[in-house]
Amino acid sequence: MNISHELFEAARRRIPGGVNSPVRAFRGVGGEPFFVKSANGCRLVTADNRELIDYVGTWGPAILGHAPSVVTNAVRETAQHGLSFGTPNPLEVEMAETICRLVPSVEKVRMVNSGTEATMSCVRLARGFTGRDKIIKFEGCYHGHVDSLLVKAGSGALTHGTPDSAGVPKALARLTITVPFNNVGAVRAAFAANPGEIAAVILEPVPANAGLYLPEPGFLEALRALCSESDSLLIFDEVMTGFRLARGGAQEIFGIRPDLTALGKVIGGGLPVGAFGGRAEIMDQLSPDGPVYQAGTLSGNPIAMAAGLAQLRELERCQGWSQLEEIGSSFEARARHAIRALPITFQRIGSMFCLYFFEGPVRRLSDAMKSDRERFSKYFHHCLDAGVYFAPSPFEAGFLSIAHASDDIDETARVMSDALKAVF
Ligand SMILES: *Cc1c(COP(=O)(O)O)cnc(C)c1O
Repeated sequence: MNISHELFEAARRRIPGGVNSPVRAFRGVGGEPFFVKSANGCRLVTADNRELIDYVGTWGPAILGHAPSVVTNAVRETAQHGLSFGTPNPLEVEMAETICRLVPSVEKVRMVNSGTEATMSCVRLARGFTGRDKIIKFEGCYHGHVDSLLVKAGSGALTHGTPDSAGVPKALARLTITVPFNNVGAVRAAFAANPGEIAAVILEPVPANAGLYLPEPGFLEALRALCSESDSLLIFDEVMTGFRLARGGAQEIFGIRPDLTALGKVIGGGLPVGAFGGRAEIMDQLSPDGPVYQAGTLSGNPIAMAAGLAQLRELERCQGWSQLEEIGSSFEARARHAIRALPITFQRIGSMFCLYFFEGPVRRLSDAMKSDRERFSKYFHHCLDAGVYFAPSPFEAGFLSIAHASDDIDETARVMSDALKAVF
C-alpha cells in the first residue's frame, strides 16, 4: 500500500494539480510527490514512514532544521495567550526593532504574510513614491506571483514584457522591462530608452530561483549608481537570501544599500511571514501616514512574530551564519569530489547550492537553461529512492541547515556518487 499515492489521488480531485503551490507537484522531474507527516532536524518522515535527508528545508525557512525546540516552544507559549488580536501587539515592535538592527538599510519596516505580498508592496510603494509606473526586473529572478513581476523577457534585452502567466493584463506586463542578469549595458539601455519613467529596479541580489548564480563584481554597484542617478529606487528581494546568507543578508555581503528590501522565509521560522522595509522617507508614504495603501488582517500576527523572533535570536546566539558557512564548505568539498570529471557545474554561497548538469559557466538564466533536465530528473529520482531529497526541479537551489551533521553529509555524498554513476 502506498499512502502518498492514495493521498495524491484524493488531492487531485479537490485541489488543482493536487498541490497548493505548483513546484510541489514534481512536474519538473516526473513522478508523484510524496506526502510528509512530520519533520525534525534535517529529516522528513513521509506518510509511508520513509525517512529522507532534506535539502529543501521548506524552500528556505528551516535554517535551524525542522521544528527546532526554540521555535516550537515560542509558538506553544505565545499561543496560550491568544492567536490573533487585530490590534498592535508588543511582539511586532520587537520584530521591527530586530529587523532594523540586523539589516541597517531598513529604517522602518512593515510585516506581511508572504514574500509575494512583500515584493508587491515594494513595487506599489516605489511607484507611489516616484510617481512613475515602469519597473526593471531580470530574467530568471522570481519575486512571487505578483502580476507586474510574473514577466520575463523575450529574446532581446529590451523586449517589452509579455505575461508569463495567463491572467496578467498585457497593459500591466508592458510596464515591466526585463533584462538579462549581470548585464549592466542592458540595464543602462533600458534606463536610456525610458527616461524619467523607471520607478524601480527589482532583483534577487543572488538569484536563487533559476538554480543559483552570483552577481559579478561591479554589477550591484552599477545598479545602485544607475538608480541613484535616475532617482529610481533599488529594491533587493531578499526573501530567500535575507537572514540566510548573513545576518544582514546579501546586501551585507556585497556592501550595497538598497532603498527597499523584501523579506520572507527565514524571518517566519516556518510560519507564513513576510516583511518589507527601507528608507524611512519612502516607508512614510504608506497609509495611514501617506497615500500608498497597504494592509493585512493577520499581519504582525503574534504567533508568527514569536516564531520568527525565536529563530532569529537562536541564529545570533549560536553564530548560525558562520556555522552554516562551515557546513556549506564541507558539503561543497564532498559534492565536488562526487562530481569530479563530470560535466556538472556546482555553485554555492553559504548554505545555498545548486548543481547544473552541464559544464557552465552560469551567469544568467540563458546559461541555466542549458542544464540537462533529463539527466537531472534521473539523478533526482535515484537520490530520492536512496533517501536524499533534493528540490524536485533543476532550477531550484538546495538549502543546508544547522541540523545537517557531518554524518548526514557523508551519507548524502555517497548517495550522490551512486546516483551520478547510474546517470552518466
Ligand atoms: C519565495 C520567494 C518569493 C515569494 O515568497 P512567497 O512567500 O512564496 O510568496 C519572492 N521572492 C523570492 C526571491 C523568493 O525566493
